[in-house]
Amino acid sequence: MAQLWSTVSNEKTVVTTAPQTPAPATSDTPDRVKRFLHVLIEPRSYLNALYLLTAFPLGLTYFAVLVTGALVGSLLAGVLVGLLILLAVLVAAWGFALFERELAIWLLGVDVPPLALPDPEVVSPWRMLVRHLRQSTTWRSITYLLVKLPFGIFATSVTVALSGPPIVGIVYPIFRLLNSGPFPPEVGLLIFPGMVAVAGLAVALQVLNLIGRMWGRFAADMLGVSEEQRQIWDARRKADAADRSRRELIMNVSHELRTPIASIQAHVDSLLLPEADRPDAEETERRLKVTATETRRLADLIEDLLMLARADSQELRVTNRAIDPGPIAEQVVLALAPLARQERQVTVSLDEVPAGLHAEGDADRLAQVLTNLVRNAINYTPEGGVVSIRLSAGADRVQIAVSDTGLGIIAEDLEHIFERFYRADSSRTRDTGGFGLGLSIARELVEAMGGSLSATSQPGLGSTFWISLRRAEAT
Ligand code: ADP
Repeated sequence: MAQLWSTVSNEKTVVTTAPQTPAPATSDTPDRVKRFLHVLIEPRSYLNALYLLTAFPLGLTYFAVLVTGALVGSLLAGVLVGLLILLAVLVAAWGFALFERELAIWLLGVDVPPLALPDPEVVSPWRMLVRHLRQSTTWRSITYLLVKLPFGIFATSVTVALSGPPIVGIVYPIFRLLNSGPFPPEVGLLIFPGMVAVAGLAVALQVLNLIGRMWGRFAADMLGVSEEQRQIWDARRKADAADRSRRELIMNVSHELRTPIASIQAHVDSLLLPEADRPDAEETERRLKVTATETRRLADLIEDLLMLARADSQELRVTNRAIDPGPIAEQVVLALAPLARQERQVTVSLDEVPAGLHAEGDADRLAQVLTNLVRNAINYTPEGGVVSIRLSAGADRVQIAVSDTGLGIIAEDLEHIFERFYRADSSRTRDTGGFGLGLSIARELVEAMGGSLSATSQPGLGSTFWISLRRAEAT
């Protein structure tokens, strides 16, 4: 069990890869010209130009506030007011850096890591200040704010110099045309310089985009926490989550064990009473039956916990090969249908299985998952309902759907039913149902087969659980 306590974690990492579309081999001149001129209709180009245009006034503001504040603060450092001014400079620098980070994200379109990582610890303002001063991001961001002034002088003047003349060249002919009617005599004379101006604006935007991209990369390095810090924070977060999950599991297991053990204890104690106080034969039999049922439930719980412990320590044995899910589903239906009809008047059926369907997976484990899903479906479907299994195939996936006409699951519960010990309606299932581990085990098993398990539901109408496996070639 110690293994289980130390390894429980529900975190899953999903890595998705965007499909790589090869760039079309367009080497002909019209296409190149089109791509070059495309910059004119990209909103990002204008946002980038706006960023560069405002770089000087912003850089000047940061420089003036920070340098003046630091000088005055240092001169008066002997008295309290000087220290307060230095503190205000630090706060202002932090505010400017936050603002600059947002500007870089929204106007330059760069991905800047956060300036600071959330700290779960509550610390005193003094320790917060010390931490802030020790952080490399603090000093990197202040350097960035100061460097913004020389960069701003360069960026704003280049922006004005490069985009000013083409803009005048475009606006002037339009202005003339508007003033002198639709067909002024000099219309021909105006069109040619207008076209040159448009080409000039495209060149200007291309150059400004290049400057913006380079500065954006610099901003991402200077304004965000380093990759190393992020990794440390991530590792700490995962360790905390594992620890929390371990504590939750201990609490859940203790809680779950308490009720059946108390019931067993009470019944056995009553059977050990002096002869005169013992219940009659009929009551004794009833109590023994309850004890037997509770003991079986406890044994099932231990099995489930062991299964989860194996999954957590990557010891869950799943042998994946090409399997035929049709006969497996048939077996499950054959095993469960008679009892469902007899005891609950619920019909369990299997729709026609498409021919030649093969999936990648483990036959025994798939049978275990299907049994669990069909059992649940029977349990949560009122008398006279129907549980049906349907197999279908896409280009590279095989899907097995287990649907019922039962109670359904409300949206808030649907998000959690695959979590350990989660039961949608605890008052309904706590005493008679399982421990809320079945679906989490089923999901672990399906994922170990390289597939996924999900659910959809319409409260009051029924639910469908979907097993999706990779399609395989028959061997
Ligand atoms: P349990 O052993 O308690 O059934 P599971 O992990 O198998 O645990 O299911 C978790 C919860 O999901 C159940 O307590 C039940 O509330 C809900 N649930 C599962 N299957 C169905 C279903 N077919 N219809 C309605 N609710 C369901």
